[in-house]
Amino acid sequence: MKRTVSMFRQDSAFVMDALLLPSCALCGEPASPASRLCSSCQDAIPRQVWAVDNAPANIRSSWFLLPYKGMGGQLVRCAKYGAQPLLIREMSRILARAAASSLGFVDALVPVPSTYMRNLRRGFSLPWAFSRTLARAMGLPCRRYLAHAHSLPQAGLARKERILNIAGAIKRRGSVESGSVLLLVDDVATTGATASTCASVLLDSGAAAVHLLTFASALS
Ligand SMILES: [Zn+2]
Repeated sequence: MKRTVSMFRQDSAFVMDALLLPSCALCGEPASPASRLCSSCQDAIPRQVWAVDNAPANIRSSWFLLPYKGMGGQLVRCAKYGAQPLLIREMSRILARAAASSLGFVDALVPVPSTYMRNLRRGFSLPWAFSRTLARAMGLPCRRYLAHAHSLPQAGLARKERILNIAGAIKRRGSVESGSVLLLVDDVATTGATASTCASVLLDSGAAAVHLLTFASALS
């Protein structure tokens, strides 16, 4: 029975795609062609960002839209591994709408860098897409102050391994405006190791403070 239902779902998804009626990336229900999310999943996403109690080292305050467990992680995985440009655009818009009014105390946005090879393989960078849309909504500059030297992907590594992997992998690119308050933007915060390393480079380069915004967060 389960198999029949699953085959029926697959068939429905195929027919809907064929009719240019896309299904929701989260629940499979019919979705708006412009966003790839159905109206009930869109309604379940908060309209504001939340601060975590314990920000990672070097981070003044850490904000997120959704917990990583559940919808937040699911959306990021769909966007990252499904390479869906419409979904990425919609997620960027949703994050910008939620964050723009709460984080007006920063001077510029800085995307967490991905490795060149990963960008090339995927054809996009989520932190860059999120930063660009949010910067536009806030009327602030988006600065690519950081670059990623080649390192192993962080996904699947334990906390200690992540710290060793990322240490030395983040480099400064260009000159950071002295005394500026920066908002580091990433898709996910799991242990906070990447964000701490990025913030350390920015602070050593002259930033006065670094805050963090992620679409999804496993930090508490
Ligand atoms: Zn849905």
